[in-house]
Amino acid sequence: MGNKMNIGFIGLGNMGSGMALNLLRHCQESGDTLIVFDINETVLADIVAKGAVNGLSVAKLCSQCEVLFTSLPSSKEVNLLAFGCNGILANLTEGATWFETSTNELSEWQKVKKEAPDHLTLVDAPVSGGAEGALAGTLATFLGIDEDVLKQFESLLSVIAVRVVRMGPSGAGYVTKLAQLHLNYLVAQGIGETLMLGAKANLDLNVLHSVLMSSCARSYVVESYIPKILDGSYDTSFALGLAEKDMRLITELGQHLEVKMPLGDKVYSTYQEATKTYGENAPHLSIVRLMEEQHDQILRS
Ligand code: NAD
Repeated sequence: MGNKMNIGFIGLGNMGSGMALNLLRHCQESGDTLIVFDINETVLADIVAKGAVNGLSVAKLCSQCEVLFTSLPSSKEVNLLAFGCNGILANLTEGATWFETSTNELSEWQKVKKEAPDHLTLVDAPVSGGAEGALAGTLATFLGIDEDVLKQFESLLSVIAVRVVRMGPSGAGYVTKLAQLHLNYLVAQGIGETLMLGAKANLDLNVLHSVLMSSCARSYVVESYIPKILDGSYDTSFALGLAEKDMRLITELGQHLEVKMPLGDKVYSTYQEATKTYGENAPHLSIVRLMEEQHDQILRS
């Protein structure tokens, strides 16, 4: 890719802001240009102040970009931005490639792909690694992509991710992300039960955490979620409503593929109950708060 590129980024939230900052740094070194947009003016102004160009609207941004990244809450926003005369599909430049990094649902993405003009390349590129990983550029991205397209963009994708994995053709990225999240949420609910056992038996929960970390139960969830329960923050970097959405997508995927998931169904109902109780903007580990209230036992170090 010898020529200078305009790279667009829409959706500068917890994940998008970190990814966009890494792309901005890359652009400042390579001579490419990063053009950004978000309906939240504060987050938009932040990154514009650091040197990104304000895209002003979805249509204006898209009409200047050869590559587009989006990081949006759900399929609702992805579709809202994709369709219509002011949307992504109608305005992206000839031959552009769109990397959609949200956790999205396959059936909705297939509708977007069906409407996309032939000259555009749409890639499902969901990410894993949290807001910290987005900022550090250490995400993993799971791609539904053709090999030749991956070759073309591998070095650009490595600006936001240390693991760039081709999972198969279109849709394979989204399915991988949901499979990974399924286990993540099962373990998240599981750590609440584990800590509750410890607390009710008067164990020191910090010591229990360190034991779990050196046992076969060790995982990212055990490592990084438990401290955010023990400090009472419940992890503000990811919203409960998004977690509930993920669990809905996971159970729908199970139904679609005819896979019975009694654990997944149970965990989904817990996320639904927590969202009803604390609201969708509450931190995602509020599912454990639910358990604390049910047991009249706060889990703190
Ligand atoms: P977020 O809510 O923090 O960010 C979404 C951004 O999109 C916000 O800044 C919002 O203003 C913007 N937006 C919404 N509607 C818009 C519109 N019509 N036009 C322009 N901008 C619009 O969410 P997030 O936590 O950054 O997550 C983004 C996606 O990544 C979600 O699909 C989520 O499931 C997924 N994800 C999140 C994490 C995480 O740890 N936060 C990890 C992996 C994947």
